[in-house]
Order: sequence, then structure tokens, then C-alpha cells
Amino acid sequence: MTSNRKQETSHQSRRIKREIKTTLVMIKLYCKKQHASKELCPDCTDLLNYTMRRIDKCRFALNKPTCANCTVHCFKPFYREKIRQIMRFSGPRMSYRHPILTFFHLLDKFRKPAEQTPHKRAEDI
Ligand SMILES: [Zn+2]
Repeated sequence: MTSNRKQETSHQSRRIKREIKTTLVMIKLYCKKQHASKELCPDCTDLLNYTMRRIDKCRFALNKPTCANCTVHCFKPFYREKIRQIMRFSGPRMSYRHPILTFFHLLDKFRKPAEQTPHKRAEDI
């Protein structure tokens, strides 16, 4: 019996799960209001799948900022524009329905991307 799943650090997986959940809630809300569909419409499903793949492969991994705030623009422009629209639409509306998710998401926005840690300035120059 081998388990091919590496032991994830629980902190990382919690952050990523939270981001996935936030994204899902935002896309669902947007689709419901803007596309008048009960389930996710094909376009939004496509966007969701794409987003899941990006989050999964994100090179910041452990220390990643939220995708909206990421310095590595790993989203193709087409999808990036869509996800921004969705965040603009759903972001403010989420605070009523999902106060806790919104709280965490805002908190994440203030995390600086890993590249910008001012630590080893002196040595680097
Ligand atoms: Zn939709």
C-alpha cells in the first residue's frame, strides 16, 4: 500500500482550501445574479476549473498571496479579466452572506508576496 499523496503542511492546505472556497462562492454568486442560472453555467464552470488548476500549480505555494494580489500573473488575460469582474461584483456582496470568508480574504490581501520580503537587502546589493 503506497500513498502517493505527500503530507501537506496543514497551514498551506487550509489557506488554499479557503481560497478555493472563496473563489467558488464568488463565482456562484456572480453566475446566479448575472447569468440567471441555478447551477454554474458552462462559462463559469470553465472559469472555475481554470482557477482551480492555477491555484493548484501556483508557484508561490506556501507563501502565496491571494491570486487577485499576485505578482506572477499566471492567469491568461482572458480569464484574469473574468475573475476580476467577478471579484468586483461579488466581493462587496459577500460581506453580507459570508462574513467570515470575506474577512479572511481581505486579510490575505494584506500579505505581501514572497518576493517583497525586505529581509536580505544588505547582502543582496
Ligand atoms: Zn455563469
